[in-house]
Amino acid sequence: MIRILGVTAHPDDEAGAFGGSLLLYNSRGAETYVICLTEGQAATNRGTAKSDEELGMLRRAEFEASCRLLRVTGSEMLKYPDGALDRVNLLTVVADLTRRVRKIKPHIILTMGPEGAITGHLDHAMASIFATMAFHWAARKDRYSEQLAEGLEPHRARKLYYSTASFVLPDRPPVSPPPCTTTIDISQFLEGKIEAFRQHRTQAPLMERFEKSMRRFGLKELYHLAAVSEPMDLTPETDLLHGISPE
Ligand SMILES: [Zn+2]
Repeated sequence: MIRILGVTAHPDDEAGAFGGSLLLYNSRGAETYVICLTEGQAATNRGTAKSDEELGMLRRAEFEASCRLLRVTGSEMLKYPDGALDRVNLLTVVADLTRRVRKIKPHIILTMGPEGAITGHLDHAMASIFATMAFHWAARKDRYSEQLAEGLEPHRARKLYYSTASFVLPDRPPVSPPPCTTTIDISQFLEGKIEAFRQHRTQAPLMERFEKSMRRFGLKELYHLAAVSEPMDLTPETDLLHGISPE
């Protein structure tokens, strides 16, 4: 059984960044997992919420609805501060992610790129850095050894991917996206991805732009292969599972 874990910063990133791939690999029999680091309480679009707490509760429910539509096997939302992931303790967040990598034992970890994805959001950039360190450190006995004393085992995921894009947004901070190494055809799952994004009702003002961009560019999800457990030459891929067989 192949297991794929996505690490994101905000509710709606799971649909926007790799919703099509989650659906595709679920249809191929993989288990999929999503960990979202924040409840998205700093969002500009706040729906009917009158407080950060209320917005967090609404967005938690929206995240769960989106993950259900994306047929995610297991999802979890942590409570790190939205809009401030650059000010949290790196070792603490990476410990939380490393623990979950050791429990879930994913073959593949997906996250956004350290440029912050197309919006250049600092939280996306930090989620990328935390997930990258968790990918590497989950495999090592000398990192978070207290988790090993609790009975968890080191886990070496096979591949780490950053989601990437073939375009930049002129009205956002300048970003230098990681080059695309891996192109996944999600045309069969585009409607499902859009529908999952739509579950984020508090973010409805973003929907029109998202849908327009998805219908124009969204038939493929693009990734950058950032790390592999077996050294290899890079060849352009059309399948995240390229070179991986279930143990
Ligand atoms: Zn986001």
